[in-house]
Amino acid sequence: MGGSREMTLGVMGGGQLGRMFAHAAQRMGFFTAVLDPDPLSPAGRVSHHHIQTSYTDPVGLERLALVAQAITTEFENVPAPALAELAKTRPVAPAAACVAIAQDRAAEKAHFVRCGVPCAPYAVIETAEQLAAVPDSLLPGILKTARMGYDGKGQARVRNRAELAEAWADMQQLPCVLEKMLPLALECSVIVARASHGDCVNLPLQRNLHREGILAVTEVYADNVPEALAERAIAAAKSIAAELNYVGVLCVEFFVLDESNPAAAGLGGLIVNEMAPRPHNSGHYSMDACDVSQFELQVRTLAGLPLVQPRQHSPAIMLNLLGDIWPEGGVPPWERVLALPGTHLHLYGKLRAAKGRKMGHLNITGSTLEQVRRIALQAAQILGIEAF
Ligand code: ATP
Ligand code: MG
Repeated sequence: MGGSREMTLGVMGGGQLGRMFAHAAQRMGFFTAVLDPDPLSPAGRVSHHHIQTSYTDPVGLERLALVAQAITTEFENVPAPALAELAKTRPVAPAAACVAIAQDRAAEKAHFVRCGVPCAPYAVIETAEQLAAVPDSLLPGILKTARMGYDGKGQARVRNRAELAEAWADMQQLPCVLEKMLPLALECSVIVARASHGDCVNLPLQRNLHREGILAVTEVYADNVPEALAERAIAAAKSIAAELNYVGVLCVEFFVLDESNPAAAGLGGLIVNEMAPRPHNSGHYSMDACDVSQFELQVRTLAGLPLVQPRQHSPAIMLNLLGDIWPEGGVPPWERVLALPGTHLHLYGKLRAAKGRKMGHLNITGSTLEQVRRIALQAAQILGIEAF
């Protein structure tokens, strides 16, 4: 590993997740290489090597495999065949087959069913016949494109068959899944890291608040959800990883249902939503609140280093910093935020702010949950983020 002999870790994708992976790898003595076509990509700008080609360019892939001794991915929609190509000559984690499943909502749900972990009742819609055959019990529902969705994009909420037909037409009749609209009490996620020999560790369960389909706030502290639920979610995430023979960091998102609502009847209270074959926005608090962050876990799994169970040493709240809070032509008042104790600012080096664009995040840690909450609410107010 780093320090003893030169080793370069490669990552497909140059977004903020790749940037934070590169930072974690470099801290441990590794060199890093990024493949991303954007010359200004957040990870490319901080890596030793930046290969600026498309993800499928054979020359780019060959150059990455030449310079990096092991390769991971940070971007869900990196074409799985590109990972398969790299795997011919280099260890690639997670494997192309696992990424391919996570890229396709229908395949992903079939995997959850195989693992015996309940997901929302759903139907696959690829043909007009399948559209017509959708059972009434799935309405109202959410129509989601099977591939390439993120941050709530590629989704439509539909109340009845007419709206369903219209939404599918709007989506160019791409393969979709229709999910029953569930009454949510809250949303949460679990990050696990699994090694090739089967060792699997987890970060504590994250409680997440989404706004307009984008993660806004993550809160992690003892009893952020009832302990029995957290244990079920962690066990489910581990079985989802094990059944895939997964190597790397995996995030699994869950819904906790509002069981006072009749629409939740018979579903068991905890529903798996989707998985991301990489570190996840909801795990960013681990950079300041845990003794091992999700990005160090990614480095360890990729480099074949030991996995130990991370320990959270502080309650934590993470606020996502979206482009919405950037004033025209300026930056948010960081000095006022950083004057608050226990605030940790992470910015991704993106040059242009836009509505809904993830520009950075703010972690708040402290010795008590009360203190963390108070500071997080003050920071939110200063930044113009709605209270939570
Ligand atoms: P991500 O950025 O997490 O990849 P995404 O675009 O893949 O998001 P989902 O996670 O499928 O989208 O859905 C986004 C949000 O929409 C969820 O976090 C949840 O708030 C809501 N949602 C999705 N599916 C359902 C459902 N079946 N019932 C109720 N709410 C849902
Ligand atoms: Mg999601």
